[in-house]
Amino acid sequence: MSGLWDSHLHTPLCGHAAGSPAEFAKAAQERGLSGLVFTEHAPMPGWFDPGSRMRPGDLPRYLAWVGEAKGILRVGIGLEMDYHPGTDRPVAQLAGAASWDYLIGSVHHIGAWGLDDPQWKEEFGQRDLEELDQAYYQVVIAAARSGLFDAVGHLDLPKKFGQHYPASKAALAALDAIAAAGLALDYNTAGLRKPAKEVYPGRVLLQEAIAREIPLVLGSDAHRPAEVGWAFPEAAAEVEQLGGRLVHFLGRQPVEVGERP
Ligand SMILES: [Zn+2]
Ligand SMILES: [Zn+2]
Repeated sequence: MSGLWDSHLHTPLCGHAAGSPAEFAKAAQERGLSGLVFTEHAPMPGWFDPGSRMRPGDLPRYLAWVGEAKGILRVGIGLEMDYHPGTDRPVAQLAGAASWDYLIGSVHHIGAWGLDDPQWKEEFGQRDLEELDQAYYQVVIAAARSGLFDAVGHLDLPKKFGQHYPASKAALAALDAIAAAGLALDYNTAGLRKPAKEVYPGRVLLQEAIAREIPLVLGSDAHRPAEVGWAFPEAAAEVEQLGGRLVHFLGRQPVEVGERP
């Protein structure tokens, strides 16, 4: 897996992960990865899903803790930020608060509903799924147009619990917005560990992303060291086979993954 970076990683600061950044780095080294970019769940205004993320006061600890992994292999530091209508200003403030390497914009909520929280998954049975699909991608489009992020996180997240959607018009419109904004896409292998049993985005949307020349950033979304680099040889091979372009971000600029996996 030489040349590959894992650019979507969490730390225990979010309250639902385990293992120090140095332990993540050692696991990455054992798996032959070339580098890591940590992207902890970013602080949000206090009312927004406070149990799933760092608090603003955790930022110095986050920067220092990730710094401890730098002696092991190449390490960058970023954030997985939530995009939620009305929160652009605090998110922009945080984006300027440190020299981040990579900022992912993710949509985990439609209104007050945390759509990927196992605790609330019954809600899928209550909703009109087509409306849900449209509502979700509307927020993704706003995230892409916000100018705040380098990439959009786990594009087709509503499939997490096994409810698969076709590549809808709404999803394709989101890819158009991502391409128009010059953003990359998180190619996120966490979906393989969930009932969805496939990478985010799935193959059809991946092909559509590649057709729009959207660069792809490999990420395991690891919440523990055992998940670092999850299924990367297969994921990288799929992107390569479809003619896609893999990058990682440092200093908020894309870096080509030059070597074959
Ligand atoms: Zn998480
Ligand atoms: Zn996420």
